[in-house]
Formats: sequence, structure tokens, C-alpha cells
Amino acid sequence: MENRADHVKTLLRELRGTVSKPISKKLDLHKCERVVEKLGSFSSSCKDCQQQLLELMNYFILIKENIDRIDDTKLKQYKQLINHITSHLQIKHKLIQEGYYLGIFMSLGMSLGVVFGITVFDNIGLGISIGMCMGLAIGAGKDADAKKKGKTI
Ligand SMILES: [Zn+2]
Repeated sequence: MENRADHVKTLLRELRGTVSKPISKKLDLHKCERVVEKLGSFSSSCKDCQQQLLELMNYFILIKENIDRIDDTKLKQYKQLINHITSHLQIKHKLIQEGYYLGIFMSLGMSLGVVFGITVFDNIGLGISIGMCMGLAIGAGKDADAKKKGKTI
């Protein structure tokens, strides 16, 4: 099944060279390449990943043939496909989105910052900034750790 992932990656690279910049941005091809990478690594043991690789491949072939006629419907279809795949990777294979921990710890830091800002510092602004900084540091650290372990999409 590795061949299929490689095939999709080749398609992706070709597309990156041919589509216009706004479209390429909308398709988020860099993220897609990471998704394909993950699908490829799980596809030997997961039928869903195999199936999704196939769908992605078909989609990109379609796009390649209609390179001048990429409309909102096609882009929407793509977004749904990618969303479906990422949620499968998250639920079934326990992967996380890039910046996942950063988001969590930032908002946690901010809420704690409000509480401490009111009770300890008597200054909400100060509390929020300290909370945000701490959240940022912890979240970024955890994200980097997850990335190192290959847990990030
Ligand atoms: Zn899977």
C-alpha cells in the first residue's frame, strides 16, 4: 500500500507546481502532504486509511484534469474529505493537530490568569499576560514533544 501513498504524494507535488497560489493555499497542500504521510504509515493495518488514500488519490486526479475549473463546490468537497480524514486520524490513531496543546494551554492560562489577576495581583491585565505566557510556554513544549514522537498531523 505504500505505493499508493507515494502516488498521491507525486500527484500533490505536480499540483503544487500547476495550481494558482490562492487555490494552493485553499487546498493547504503542505498539510495534505502530512496527512498522506500518516495515511500511508497506517494503511497497512487500517482499512479506513487505505480507503481514504484512495479517495484522496481520485480527488487529486479529478483536480488535475480540471485544473482550470476548480470551483467552490470542489473545494468544499475537499475540505469535507480532509476533515473526515483528520478526525479519523485523531480518533482512531490518537493523533493531534499541530498547535493543539498551544490552544488548550493558552486558554487555560488565560482563564487562570483572570482568576489570579483578580484575587492575587488585583490587576486582571497582569494576570492575563502572565497566564498567557505560561500557557504559551507549556503548550509549545507539549506540541514540540508530540511532534517529536510523530503524533502530530
Ligand atoms: Zn486509519
